[in-house]
Amino acid sequence: MTERESTPQHYRVAIIGTGFAGLGMAARLKRDGLSDLVLLERANDVGGTWRDNTYPGAACDVPSHLYSLSFKRNPGWSRSFSGQREIWEYLRRIAVDEDIMPHVRFGCEVGSCRWDSAGNRWWIDTSRGTITAQFLVSGAGALCEPSLPDIAGLDGFQGTIFHSSRWNHDHDLTGRNVAVIGTGASSIQFVPQIQPEVGHLHLFQRTPPWIIPRHDRDITRPEQWIYRNLPFAQTLARRSIYWARENYIFGFVKNPNLMKGVEAICRTHMKRQVKDPDLRAKLTPDYRAGCKRILLSNDYYPSLTRPNVSVVTDGISEVREKSVVTRDGTEREVDTIILGTGFHVSDLPIANHIHDAESVALSQRWGDDPQALRGTTVAGYPNLFILAGPNTGPGHTSHVFFIESQINYTMAALRYACRNRLDRLVPRPEAQDAYVERVQRKTQGTVWVTGGCDSWYLNSKGNNVALWPGFSWEFALQTRRFDPHNYHLRKEAPIRRAPARLAA
Ligand code: NAP
Repeated sequence: MTERESTPQHYRVAIIGTGFAGLGMAARLKRDGLSDLVLLERANDVGGTWRDNTYPGAACDVPSHLYSLSFKRNPGWSRSFSGQREIWEYLRRIAVDEDIMPHVRFGCEVGSCRWDSAGNRWWIDTSRGTITAQFLVSGAGALCEPSLPDIAGLDGFQGTIFHSSRWNHDHDLTGRNVAVIGTGASSIQFVPQIQPEVGHLHLFQRTPPWIIPRHDRDITRPEQWIYRNLPFAQTLARRSIYWARENYIFGFVKNPNLMKGVEAICRTHMKRQVKDPDLRAKLTPDYRAGCKRILLSNDYYPSLTRPNVSVVTDGISEVREKSVVTRDGTEREVDTIILGTGFHVSDLPIANHIHDAESVALSQRWGDDPQALRGTTVAGYPNLFILAGPNTGPGHTSHVFFIESQINYTMAALRYACRNRLDRLVPRPEAQDAYVERVQRKTQGTVWVTGGCDSWYLNSKGNNVALWPGFSWEFALQTRRFDPHNYHLRKEAPIRRAPARLAA
């Protein structure tokens, strides 16, 4: 008997991943009374990117009162911008408090998910066997697969090499000659941490980021007491951070020239911290602020002024067994390479694992142009919800806010399916196309298109595949309700009395 002929365990909902998306989705389903769910987690603990990114100095650059689930507040945040450990602990607490742990299959790598149109279910092959599910929710996220640079000779490097999201804590950096490749959000956090201990740090910068001061501070015990005992005070703090950050959209989307004001703040910040004009010239971006993510740091620039740091702006031509060579022919001996080169964000790796009824992988359908209705559902792939899907990234605010909006949409769709006894819902291709066209139209004129930089926000056609081009409340509004007219729906049986809750 083949595996397909045997009867695998069936679930109402299968969720891939246990980061903010997976845990948030599971918590909402459980609160709605649905316990017939499974979470598939390839690691041995929950936490997603906040479990994996343990590099020194890892922290969030969005204040914690906003970078958290609205229905699971934490009055005890210790800092305005919390560190990785605290955010990971927050996520683990959610898994326990919401009784999600018994639903998680750990060490369970998803191989292939295939839609079965006869059985109206997803067949999900994993490293721990096959299961089926009526609905499949991807909470795999965008920051899970490290992006390794395509540099000649990198494979032949004889020293120690690792990516920032797979930090090698067993490798003592004391006195080492270290090459750091990349100057993005992760690098600017770990460079100041490792600079004092390494022998020499060669920082290979392709594009300098715009950096603003980071207004971080301890949250005092009296403040925590207030947040614990007067929850409205925390709501107020959350809202004030939220609305302050929404202002960025005026510059990002409406009028990129407004970003000159932010550039002036960045220049002043750099001038205060970097006295050497040659170094300042190297570190000054030549594109409009916002075109790439604006970064926050108070200690990055000072660390680059130390005598054991060189900022290298000549491109890398090759890596040899014990050195990195730049295009001008200079060879720098190093014994360690740290890749701060980011993640496969726009080519969502989970798309390689999701197949339609004809076995076409979502990655094949998409190519480098991922498209989804409301960033969540995909024509041709029934009963599938992709959290952190195309055009659901914020350039200015909390990603968790967007994930929660998508969870609201998924909950609304599942409730609708349950109430109307549907066994299948899939977006109409023309509805998806119209939605994507609207998003692309709104992207025209934004700083991401006109700002004069190359970024992973845009694909080879110049289409924005990553960011939501508008205020985040606009995305929240349009994901508040399910929109059945945009879907092909299939009933499983005549409607009887509508069950009030998903679990019914
Ligand atoms: P990233 O921001 O994408 O930066 C990658 C860096 O590597 C860039 O400087 C890039 O240069 C460089 N790079 C890539 N390929 C290269 C090559 N072949 N040669 C030389 N340089 C190369 O990656 P990240 O810093 O890991 O951050 C990834 C994501 O995580 C971002 O979206 C970031 O916002 C997020 N993140 C968020 C937080 C938070 O607090 N919320 C913290 C850390 C990270 P170019 O700019 O020239 O491409």
